[in-house]
Amino acid sequence: MLIDTHAHIYSEEFNGESDEVIKRAIGNGVTKILLPNIDSSSIKKMLDLSEKYSKICYPMMGIHPTSVNDDFEEELEVIEYWLSRKKFIAIGEIGIDLYWDKTYREEQEYIFRRQLRLARSYDLPVSVHLRDSYEVVVENIQKEYFDGLKGVFHCFSGNEQQAQEVLSMGFKIGIGGTVTFKNSNVDKVLSSLKPEDIVLETDAPYLSPVPLRGKRNESGNLVFILKKVADIFQMPEHEIAHITSQTATEVFNLDNFN
Ligand SMILES: [Zn+2]
Repeated sequence: MLIDTHAHIYSEEFNGESDEVIKRAIGNGVTKILLPNIDSSSIKKMLDLSEKYSKICYPMMGIHPTSVNDDFEEELEVIEYWLSRKKFIAIGEIGIDLYWDKTYREEQEYIFRRQLRLARSYDLPVSVHLRDSYEVVVENIQKEYFDGLKGVFHCFSGNEQQAQEVLSMGFKIGIGGTVTFKNSNVDKVLSSLKPEDIVLETDAPYLSPVPLRGKRNESGNLVFILKKVADIFQMPEHEIAHITSQTATEVFNLDNFN
């Protein structure tokens, strides 16, 4: 059993093919897929898929940092509305992205903190996105820190020292396709960690692992990530699958959902 802890398989890139994508995932042993939201425009597709596959797909709720612009208060209202109406597996994906655009940096920080407060009110873990923003993300988490805060630093690409800091804050490290890329440094950081410190993810449709790099990614490709991680830890794949699934189950309280 494998858990893809981060996949946008409801997005436009999969139009009409979700059934096949999920069938292939199950065929490869991926039995649970967590769906991070992007913004108000992605909610319907995400919820439709998670209702159709309620034992496989688990929706998150939140605003992605690259969706933060002038209408952020309205966007937040939508998120709050859905959180009050339905059960979600996590607040996500949330965080700070200073790679594409720094225009809304202050708003991104503000919305990140507001959503950390939602995690506290609803007692939910968080799926954190960061890009060129490690320090800012940690600063904001420290400002809103509360007992019981947990989650995943998704698609982690920091150094060994940062990985240790993330773990010490009670978070886990999300490992995806980049671990299979040459010169990504993720493999080096990974070898400084224990299998218990990580969860696996595809971030589909992005970041396809080698040998499918550059193609549309999907949850079934988690097996390539598993293989690479097992190589790095020099452990059998089934053991890595078991340990990482257990960690994902704990972080996202998967046994208590539904
Ligand atoms: Zn994502």
